[in-house]
Amino acid sequence: MRLTLALAAGALAVLLAGLALAEDEPARRPHVRVRGIYGGVPTTLMEDGRTLETSGVDAVWIGERGITKERVAKLRAQGAKVFAEFNTLHRKEYLKEHPAAAPVGPDGEVCPPPHDWQGICPTHVAYRTWRMDAFRTLLAEHEIDGVWLDYHHAHASWERKEPALPDTCFCERCLAKFQEDTGLDLEGAPVKEAAKRLLGAEREAWTRWRCAVFTDWVREFREILDATRPTALLGTFHCPWTDEERGGALKRKLAIDLRAQKPYLDVFSPMPYHARFGHAADPAWISRQTTWLGKYLGVEGQDGERVRIWPIVQLSDWGEPVPVAQVASVLEHGTRLPATGVLVFAWGSLRKQPAKVDALVGFYRAIGR
Ligand SMILES: [Zn+2]
Repeated sequence: MRLTLALAAGALAVLLAGLALAEDEPARRPHVRVRGIYGGVPTTLMEDGRTLETSGVDAVWIGERGITKERVAKLRAQGAKVFAEFNTLHRKEYLKEHPAAAPVGPDGEVCPPPHDWQGICPTHVAYRTWRMDAFRTLLAEHEIDGVWLDYHHAHASWERKEPALPDTCFCERCLAKFQEDTGLDLEGAPVKEAAKRLLGAEREAWTRWRCAVFTDWVREFREILDATRPTALLGTFHCPWTDEERGGALKRKLAIDLRAQKPYLDVFSPMPYHARFGHAADPAWISRQTTWLGKYLGVEGQDGERVRIWPIVQLSDWGEPVPVAQVASVLEHGTRLPATGVLVFAWGSLRKQPAKVDALVGFYRAIGR
């Protein structure tokens, strides 16, 4: 009798647990067209009878230098789209042989890399040509579904709770180009004086010009993509701040004008790394940032819209840990409209946390049923 009761109680517990699981399971989200992983080939999801498809994953992002014909073929055979991440202005090895490409501060001296994040002067012609050629070759040689620009911002360290945002670049080349493009005459003032004017009375003109320089890179990337592999998407990984946060730093410091870049881009992928950026206990911060972005860009996530928003959300432990129990909530906020796709940061460390990978797969499978 006792045993029967115990068995019955056990069966009931299992039943209740099952019901709770069914209740917790996220509902289908048909507006989410892309469920991706960033940062390497997720091999463990392609072994032991598993496939990317059965894992709910349909897109993978790999760094440009990790793209090979074999990897592209392997991922495509699993039905996944393959996107390359492309480093635009953060290839610091270039400075070894071209020190004149280093960003210059308002004192006229080379600006040291904040927290070791080394940017490059955006008007260095040979550097730009080098990156454009690499972009063209990547698209010409690989059957990829798109390229995502990365580090496309001024010399700064912003991927953290407290960023370091120095003012740059006041090199001779940038000052000359600014005067040529805007018609504003700095009257041969020494760098320190010119910088004082540009960060003071002429701040708006200076900000507009810097943003235009970075936007023009995006315009050229688009031109190359259209000429080389027109079916591919052009995306960008970018700072998730609003236009008003940190005194308008998005434009004034980072030189990112999202609205101006919009005509050249298919997908915006903001990087709301909630744990890293001081919102470890508040995953709702993710959807607040994507909601703002949608309004700012005029993107709602409706069918037929040319421009899409697919945030990259943080599941890896970086800065602060992301607990397994928080995975579903992070993805839930990351897949709210206007987002119509999502990808997770980052496979390289996630693969060592199988419980988190299981939670990710569970969510992706459930919303894609
Ligand atoms: Zn410069």
